[in-house]
Amino acid sequence: MSVATAKRDYYEVLGVARTVDGDEVKRAYRKLAMKYHPDRAEGDKAEAEVKFKECAEAYEVLSDPQKRQRYDQFGHAGINAQHDFSHMDVSDIFTMFDDIFGGAFGGRRGGGGAGAGGGRPRGQRGFDLETHVELTLQEVATGAEKTIEFERQDHCETCKGSGAKPGSSPVVCPQCGGQGRVAQQGFGGMFRMVTTCPNCRGKGTVIREHCNACGGTGRQTKRRVVKIQIPPGVHEGQAVRLAGEGEPGEGGGPSGDLHCYITVKQHPMFSRHANDLVCQCPISFTQAALGGKLEVPTLNGKEELDLPPGTQHGEVFKLKGKGLPDIRTRRSGDELVQVLIEVPKKLTEKQRQLLRDFAATEDHSVMPQRKGFLDKLKQMFAPLKD
Ligand SMILES: [Zn+2]
Ligand SMILES: [Zn+2]
Repeated sequence: MSVATAKRDYYEVLGVARTVDGDEVKRAYRKLAMKYHPDRAEGDKAEAEVKFKECAEAYEVLSDPQKRQRYDQFGHAGINAQHDFSHMDVSDIFTMFDDIFGGAFGGRRGGGGAGAGGGRPRGQRGFDLETHVELTLQEVATGAEKTIEFERQDHCETCKGSGAKPGSSPVVCPQCGGQGRVAQQGFGGMFRMVTTCPNCRGKGTVIREHCNACGGTGRQTKRRVVKIQIPPGVHEGQAVRLAGEGEPGEGGGPSGDLHCYITVKQHPMFSRHANDLVCQCPISFTQAALGGKLEVPTLNGKEELDLPPGTQHGEVFKLKGKGLPDIRTRRSGDELVQVLIEVPKKLTEKQRQLLRDFAATEDHSVMPQRKGFLDKLKQMFAPLKD
């Protein structure tokens, strides 16, 4: 009861007098539905959708003479409580009243077909497809044109997608008379439900003699080869969309899209962190101590890096702009070179002697890091001795 009283008067909703005829109701509804269609409405979309549904509900009742009479007599209480559009999908409402819009809304789903069938159901968009393409890091840096091959369910060439044997053609569905929809009475005629015709599954036609090539499905698996442009800076897992390369639509609907997912081949030298490239370079401990020129790889060949004397293990040097371009800004990231000091495992007798001589000159307490370490060690054991 409380729900019913909260509803606005249907005549008020459509902005018509209680005496207007059916045509007037239809005109009023058509105008308001155009105005409040969520795809067209300006301003608050959610509010527009609520209004749109309210209008549809009002029209559903006032366009049916029996329901209108009951409504006139008993108000909202005369209409079954099930009759509430607020939870319906906007596109379902459109399918329901398709005939009065005459395809005015070319489609929330694309609905391509050039307005061929007045009362026929709108075409359904084809399925999207997915494929993969593998790139090298170089290709990520420059962008690439790739040729990809994939299979898709295309229209059958023999029957042009109709599914009917050549020479024959699909016939109008006897159950729905070609409408693709059937009305069903529910709750003892209290309301009318419009559903997709179960016999033709909404197509409006049925096939008598099946096409031999496709067995009546109208589809055939075909191999497709397309070129795809990959922009510089793409990341693993991103997809490039090729519009219209998916499966063809049904009943004149548009084709789906092809989503081409990117994988990036592992590089022997570089790992990627966002738009930066990280490269680990082994150096000898003498290089680290004395400093010098270090040859490092970049994506475009070799570069020389100035190693300062006293370079530490794990230290990172930046080569500005030698990373990968950002996919949006095209600004390049950096290359980060991390040096790893390698201690030789084998020494010649001469090297061993030189190092012994070197060690003899070492003043352990002077080397800053080691000094700190020895101090800490002393502090750690000092209290125990007492
Ligand atoms: Zn066929
Ligand atoms: Zn049918």
